[in-house]
Amino acid sequence: MMTKQINVGGVLIGGGAPITIQSMTNTPTQNRAATLDQIKKLAAAGCEIVRVTVPDMEAVRALGKIKESSPIPVVADIHFDYKLALEAVAAGADKVRINPGNIGGEDRVKAVAGACRLHNVPIRIGVNGGSLEKPILEKYGKICPEGMVESAFGHIRLLNKFDFDNICVSLKSSSVPVTMRACQLMSQTSDYPLHIGVTEAGTVRMGTLKSAVGIGGLLALGIGDTIRVSLSADPVEEVYAAREILKAAGVRREGPELVSCPTCGRTKIDLIALANEVEERLKAVDKPITVAVMGCAVNGPGEAAAADCGIAGGTGEGLLFQKGKIIKKVPQDLLVDELFKLIETL
Ligand code: SF4
Repeated sequence: MMTKQINVGGVLIGGGAPITIQSMTNTPTQNRAATLDQIKKLAAAGCEIVRVTVPDMEAVRALGKIKESSPIPVVADIHFDYKLALEAVAAGADKVRINPGNIGGEDRVKAVAGACRLHNVPIRIGVNGGSLEKPILEKYGKICPEGMVESAFGHIRLLNKFDFDNICVSLKSSSVPVTMRACQLMSQTSDYPLHIGVTEAGTVRMGTLKSAVGIGGLLALGIGDTIRVSLSADPVEEVYAAREILKAAGVRREGPELVSCPTCGRTKIDLIALANEVEERLKAVDKPITVAVMGCAVNGPGEAAAADCGIAGGTGEGLLFQKGKIIKKVPQDLLVDELFKLIETL
C-alpha cells in the first residue's frame, strides 16, 4: 500500500518518494572531526541520510556541531534515555531513532513526542528481533515476525496516544526470512513508511548477499521506502552495496551499471581483472549509463548491444564499442583508459 510521507531534514521518505540510502557512522560521535569526515565520505558515495549514535551529552553537543556542516540529514540514535532525545532534537537532529516503549513511562513519551512535534522531527521506531520485549517473547515463545509487528504497534500506540504520527518503522532481524515476513506483515497492516534492512548481516560478502536477498526481495514486492545495508565493514561499503541493490532491484537508475559476461571458452582476455578495474573506476562516475565488459570480440559487442558502451577482449588487443557498434580496436593495455575517455563524452 502507498505509505505516508515523512520529511527528514528535507529528504522525503515514503509516499512515492525515491527510495533513499541510509548508513550509520562508526566513529565516536564525540569525535566531531572524525564523524564529520566519515559523513562526508558517506555522502560522496551516495548516502542520503546518516545516523549517528548519541550515548551521552557530549555526543549531543557534538551532534549540534556536526549538523551545522553535514551535507546530509543527521539522525540521532538513542537508546532508553529520553533526555538525550529531547536534547538531540534541540541540537538540530533531523530524525530520532528511539523506541518509546523503552524510555520509562508515558510522561517521557509525551515529552519526546512534544519536542519532535515542535521541531517537525520524525521518529523511527526500530524493532530488532534480538531485543523484543519479554512479554512478547513469552507470548510467542521465540523471535518471530508476528511478535516483531506486535512490538512495533506497541510503540506506535504510545506515540499516537500523544497525537504523534510523524513516524517511520523498521523491523529487522539477522534472519532474512524473518525480516522479510515481518516487513510484509507490517505493510499489510500499516501505512507508516518502512525503513528496511537485515541487521547484523555480516561481512561485505555475506552481508551484501543477505541484504540483497532481504532488501531486494522486499523492494521487488513494492515494500520499503528507505534502506540500510548493515555490514561489518567501513560504512562506505554499505552505501556501495545499497546502491547496487537499488539498481539490481530496478527501483533507482542513478549512476552507472556494469554488466560483464560470465566468461566461457571463447574468452580472450583477463576478464575478471578487467571487470574489477572497470567496476572500481565507475565508482567515480555518476552518469546513468550501462557499461559492458565482455570476454570476446566475436560475441561481446552483440551480446552487450543494450549497453551504452563497453569493451570486448581480443588477442593482444580489444574492441571499444558503443550501443553494439564497434568504434575502434585498442591495444589491450589501453582498453580501460579508452573506455573511460568514451564515458566522459557520453
Ligand atoms: S562475450 Fe564471448 S567470452 Fe563472454 S560469454 Fe559471451 S561468447 Fe563467451
